[in-house]
Amino acid sequence: MGRTVVVLGGGISGLAASYHLRRARCPPKVVLVEGSERLGGWIRSVRGPDGAVFELGPRGIRPAGALGARTLLLVSELGLDSEVLPVRGDHPAARNRFLYVGGALHALPTGLGGLLRPSPPFSKPLFWAGLRELIRPRGKEPDETVHSFALRRLGPEVASLAMDSLCRGVFAGDSRELSIRSCFPSLFQAEQTHRSILLGLLLGAGRSPQPDSALIRQARAERWSQWSLRGGLEMLPQALEAHLTSRGVSVLRGQPVCGLSLQPEGRWKVFLGDSSLEADHVISAIPASVLSKLLPAEAAPLAQALGAITAVSVAVVNLQYRGAHLPVQGFGHLVPSSEDPGVLGIVYDSVAFPEQDGSPSGLRVTVMLGGAWLQMLQASGSVLSQELFQKQAQEAAATQLGLKEPPSHCLVHLHKNCIPQYTLGHWQKLESAQQFLAAQRLPLTLAGASYEGVAVNDCIESGRQAAVHALGIEPDS
Ligand SMILES: Cc1cc2nc3c(=O)[nH]c(=O)nc-3n(C[C@H](O)[C@H](O)[C@H](O)COP(=O)(O)OP(=O)(O)OC[C@H]3O[C@@H](n4cnc5c(N)ncnc54)[C@H](O)[C@@H]3O)c2cc1C
Repeated sequence: MGRTVVVLGGGISGLAASYHLRRARCPPKVVLVEGSERLGGWIRSVRGPDGAVFELGPRGIRPAGALGARTLLLVSELGLDSEVLPVRGDHPAARNRFLYVGGALHALPTGLGGLLRPSPPFSKPLFWAGLRELIRPRGKEPDETVHSFALRRLGPEVASLAMDSLCRGVFAGDSRELSIRSCFPSLFQAEQTHRSILLGLLLGAGRSPQPDSALIRQARAERWSQWSLRGGLEMLPQALEAHLTSRGVSVLRGQPVCGLSLQPEGRWKVFLGDSSLEADHVISAIPASVLSKLLPAEAAPLAQALGAITAVSVAVVNLQYRGAHLPVQGFGHLVPSSEDPGVLGIVYDSVAFPEQDGSPSGLRVTVMLGGAWLQMLQASGSVLSQELFQKQAQEAAATQLGLKEPPSHCLVHLHKNCIPQYTLGHWQKLESAQQFLAAQRLPLTLAGASYEGVAVNDCIESGRQAAVHALGIEPDS
């Protein structure tokens, strides 16, 4: 009888793992178990009354690097090429990003010219921060917070304005708690290898082999900064689901896994409410903290390491305004914690992807709320009402972008524990989890946003790697 691999979690990581398992020369039986009624996890796109697309989760995927290229290859394999909406290199959404500091929007400098010119809110041209970086000694710690790393190498303004905002934009997190080694591994490695981030990024780590396809070549030639899909990014998990079911993968929805136990012959029993499944191997693509509660007593050290990987919540408020105009054209702006503890940033969705606007006069923006403000509200047991988030978001859009009229359409979603936090020492949690799995030879592989990257590309790659590990061979070979 062939092997059975059970994949836990039908977000993009679990879908990617299932996809790559089925591509193996001798594919195992694959069962994908999802707790909710829909697949895709945080990737969710909904339509407004006029057909406009509103992204409740991710809204753009970066094509850069080997991982970006692999995702584009997947898109082509799923037959989605004609649905891709690129943001080309010469587009304002690719060129312009802003910081909201001191009550005003400031364009982040681009190119060498931009670095040489004074660029508020920074008091000196960023060229000086770069010069300082080149001569700083190499750090000696095995890990450091993003803030401390940036402060040491680039100075206080870059640390407290740029890196603080970046951590809020990518992780909805606090640069004083997040780990440079795990959140920005290329910066950490650049310092380790070349003593300087700038030297490291200039000299590069050597190009890893990249897949090739017509879409990848187009993305490179047109210098895409990101891309989406015509009907929203949820088209990607939907296409994966259709592909998997057509290839014989059993997809179970509405079946939360409530426990795992190890059988004497080394197989897993996966408990689903009233029923159970047997598996030779389990790929977990559910959040680490959820898995930690499902593991059997024999795996207590693993559960302890995984349970320490926390996540933060984000309130996503999609707003649509009739006949309104933005004061600037760009991807969006970020807000450092010193400026506003609750507003992480605003994405100008209509600039990057006007094709998703529905009616031409409907301007779409998304306000991301979170940070210390939301944590404080959650900790104090306050009522987290839709009205509260809508009011906060509308005020931010009015103050920061001049969108003072009431929106014509508004969606509010509080995503609880949606972004894992790679805090200082995250690498040690991963190392102890992997050491335990190897020492006990447990047929369990970890995938998903909890471990080595939260971006959609990272999650897809984690699913692919998990499939490689579970199969013991390269599935694409
Ligand atoms: C608001 C927001 C904006 C983002 N923006 C971007 C962006 O623009 N670009 C980008 O690249 N990335 C972005 N990200 C990050 C990216 O979308 C996520 O990291 C990624 O989608 C996570 O995928 P995942 O499959 O690892 O986890 P999830 O999406 O969390 O999927 C896990 C799945 O497991 C299921 N599950 C949980 N418990 C159980 C159980 N007991 N049994 C069975 N199933 C269970 C869940 O229902 C879920 O479907 C954003 C994330 C958020 C939240």
